[in-house]
Amino acid sequence: MLEIIEKKKKKEELSLSEIEYVIDNYVNGNIPDYQMSAFLMAILLNGMTDEETINLTNVMKNSGIVLDLSDIDGIRADKHSTGGVGDKTTLILAPLVATTGVKVAKMSGRGLGHTGGTIDKLESIGGFNTSISIKQMVKQVNEIGVAIISQTDNIDPADKLLYQLRDVTGTVDSIPLIASSIMSKKLALGDDVIVVDVKVGNGALMKNIHDARKLANLMYKIGKANNKKMACILTNMNEPLGNMIGNATEVLESIDVLKGEGPSDLRNLVLTLGSYMVSLGKNIDLDEARSILKDNLNNGLAYNKFRDMVKYQKGNIDDIKISDNVISVKSKKRGYIKNIDTLSLGEIARSFGAGRLTKDDKIDYSVGIYVNKKVGDHVEVGEELAKLYVNSEYDVNEVIKCFEIRKIRCKKNPLIYEIIM
Ligand code: URA
Repeated sequence: MLEIIEKKKKKEELSLSEIEYVIDNYVNGNIPDYQMSAFLMAILLNGMTDEETINLTNVMKNSGIVLDLSDIDGIRADKHSTGGVGDKTTLILAPLVATTGVKVAKMSGRGLGHTGGTIDKLESIGGFNTSISIKQMVKQVNEIGVAIISQTDNIDPADKLLYQLRDVTGTVDSIPLIASSIMSKKLALGDDVIVVDVKVGNGALMKNIHDARKLANLMYKIGKANNKKMACILTNMNEPLGNMIGNATEVLESIDVLKGEGPSDLRNLVLTLGSYMVSLGKNIDLDEARSILKDNLNNGLAYNKFRDMVKYQKGNIDDIKISDNVISVKSKKRGYIKNIDTLSLGEIARSFGAGRLTKDDKIDYSVGIYVNKKVGDHVEVGEELAKLYVNSEYDVNEVIKCFEIRKIRCKKNPLIYEIIM
């Protein structure tokens, strides 16, 4: 291990067998955390070649079981987001895409840092069961076209161990480590189509378009090297997506979109990500895919599919509670919203219970934030910037500080920056 660390320290390229040695022995407990930490930091500082990253991804993927979902009839598509605030797209996309006949057997994660997780959000629906076996998931997807379940421990155990270590050793923000972490999990699931939403901005892991583009190109290359149909879409995370942040709050907003309503940025992003999943899955053009999806949001099919999924997974759609203790956050200034500190808003929601501060914390599903003003909007003194759904006291000044207000008109960022495919 020491020789391999030295090699990476000198920016030399590692062979497949060296990468296999590191991952296999770390997962088996033969390599201690202190050596693995040094290795990860050497990668963070000196990078990896594309070939090294492709090899690392495959070795990580093979550290656990690789699903054979061939028992699911038809084409299967998956979507992954690199993480943002208010990102509830999976809740809408999975049932929506399933209405077109493309199958969605989705494994999702819990909240991480300031970003929420699909599984926590779904569990805010009373009774909803996300701990389902692969066999049951296959049955459900064959019957209703969609299932969202929590990641099982035997899929990509290398990523679980490495992610925990990266989280506490300052080695999360390395492009080859992020690309291999995301793609090894996606490849282990055996889907035909993979669409990745690469978030860019102050609420995302990638703060600028240059790094986001590098990450997207690398993930695209890894997907193609594994014969997947791939698209990576770079999208704006300089403000929360939609208006709601939290768990139950985000489910309610998702239901609005599933019923053909809801905030336009969320609806548009869902339609864009969905069109790539359906167009690649069914070999039809993007406009046609988008038009089918739009119809299915407006005609009730998408919402019915969501209800079917909730029912199948033992949830009660009428049991979604949000706190009735609501604090209104009012602007002290008049002008235009120039910038929203999205990371801080995510952290504020987490601090009053929407996320975890330690891995054993219990989530309060009923708390959250409604963001009433987005970048470019005009605001008057005394007008509402946000509403807090809380179960404790909170200093509204912390929220006010997240909104930068200028006298002159401010431009809105585009929702979609670039598509790599
Ligand atoms: N999401 C992941 O799954 N892994 C990373 O490394 C970063 C974001």
